[in-house]
Amino acid sequence: MFYNSTRNSSVKVSSAEAITQGISAEGGLFVPEEIPQISLDDIKAVGDMKYADRAAFVFSKFLTDFTDAEIHYCTDNAYSTKNFETESIAEIAHLFDGTYMLELWHGPTCAFKDMALQILPYFLTTSAKKINLDKKIVILVATSGDTGKAALEGFKDVEGTSILVFYPEDGVSPMQKRQMKTQEGGNVGVCAIKGNFDDCQNGVKAIFTDADVKKALDDKGMMFSSANSINWGRLVPQVVYYISAYAELVKDGEIELGDKINIVVPTGNFGNILAAYYAKHMGIPVNKLICASNINNVLTDFINTGVYDRNRKFFATVSPSMDILISSNLERLLYLLTGRDDAVIRDWFGKLASEGRYEVSADVKAKLQEEFCAGYCDDEQTKEVIHEIYEKYSYTCDTHTAVAVKVYEDYKKATGDTTKTVIASTASPYKFSAAVLEAVQNGKSDLDEYDMIDKLAELSKMPVPSALADLRNKPERFNDVIDKADQKKYVLGTLGI
Ligand SMILES: *Cc1c(COP(=O)(O)O)cnc(C)c1O
Repeated sequence: MFYNSTRNSSVKVSSAEAITQGISAEGGLFVPEEIPQISLDDIKAVGDMKYADRAAFVFSKFLTDFTDAEIHYCTDNAYSTKNFETESIAEIAHLFDGTYMLELWHGPTCAFKDMALQILPYFLTTSAKKINLDKKIVILVATSGDTGKAALEGFKDVEGTSILVFYPEDGVSPMQKRQMKTQEGGNVGVCAIKGNFDDCQNGVKAIFTDADVKKALDDKGMMFSSANSINWGRLVPQVVYYISAYAELVKDGEIELGDKINIVVPTGNFGNILAAYYAKHMGIPVNKLICASNINNVLTDFINTGVYDRNRKFFATVSPSMDILISSNLERLLYLLTGRDDAVIRDWFGKLASEGRYEVSADVKAKLQEEFCAGYCDDEQTKEVIHEIYEKYSYTCDTHTAVAVKVYEDYKKATGDTTKTVIASTASPYKFSAAVLEAVQNGKSDLDEYDMIDKLAELSKMPVPSALADLRNKPERFNDVIDKADQKKYVLGTLGI
């Protein structure tokens, strides 16, 4: 299996190269040259495996340059109860008749990003070895909260790597800040920037592409890499849990092998729902993929009209991980829907960069609507849904997941579709305690972050993830705050250059 670039179909690299490079030289994203197929018998067999082996089965189809031993080294290290609080890794909770919550947040940072970022460091170090890249890999991350912490936990003490995370001083939640400042590990660094997320991101991008810095790293036997969701190594682990969930539902007798399901995904950068698309086209029977957005509803408009237009107001919402106006992974989907037409992708994404807008052809729009439905809701509706589910089903969900539930309820009402449905639950409710507690008890709380967690535990009767409970007593290790102009100096200093 080789990988092509969405902006140049003649690029052809192995998975190890795609994973170490992250993004193709001309700016395109790597996609496998074909979608490998699995049979219903395969799916049945997957149901009898533990999660790490389910993952290994899926990876064996995509990472054909990896040996079985290499794949199992990665999966066994990533998907164990050492890192996850449930044996099943991706837990399925029954919400109401025919509706299932796929809880992807039992990892070390309590959000679904752990499903990919626990394994990415192993993919990266194994890939580097395979292509004889005898260098220390330095991961630079700019984060608005969730990705940075998940990357830190993933790369912590992984041999041959170090990681440095920048976050906007006033742009993350108090809990997210505590999570990062208290990070453990001998190869990690965290620094706040006096500025917003874009300042962090621009600084990191500038350092990545700085020829002098690259040379200085090279001389020291180091290289930069990225843990961002454009890396194929972050996308492929997400395909696993959709196949795993389908196999599990068959095994539990909830569906018959071959029955179709719907999948609902609270979406930001389009990575998670694209993984569901891949799972479908590999062979799990899926009726509709339902894309749920908050009031930053650029994707809802796109799927309904075929026009992608980022020229709109940006809103800060109670589901901040979906506050995104440029969904990078959409490029991979459109590449597939255009029949791998790299010229068309260059045209559309060139227009996105220059004008902030592009319109797809009628043919692509029709294909898009055949596979996807889309909807959105605002913060008030999000909180109402959390309250409603709590009252009706004694289940507490986080704000991102609630957006998905609301959009699914609307879809069901509009279509009368009774297909059994899996909703991707992307974060622990405790990670967004303030908004969730407000929704559950119908009013704002003036408790501090930790007392809110205790209060929510009392009301929801759900165990508090130990990673969040332990935060209260952890010492802060990282308190550096720098001007954005000093970011490069800081990176070099930290690396001892
Ligand atoms: C990152 C994130 C999302 C959005 O996922 P994408 O793959 O970017 O679409 C949704 N919910 C939570 C909690 C997240 O952290």
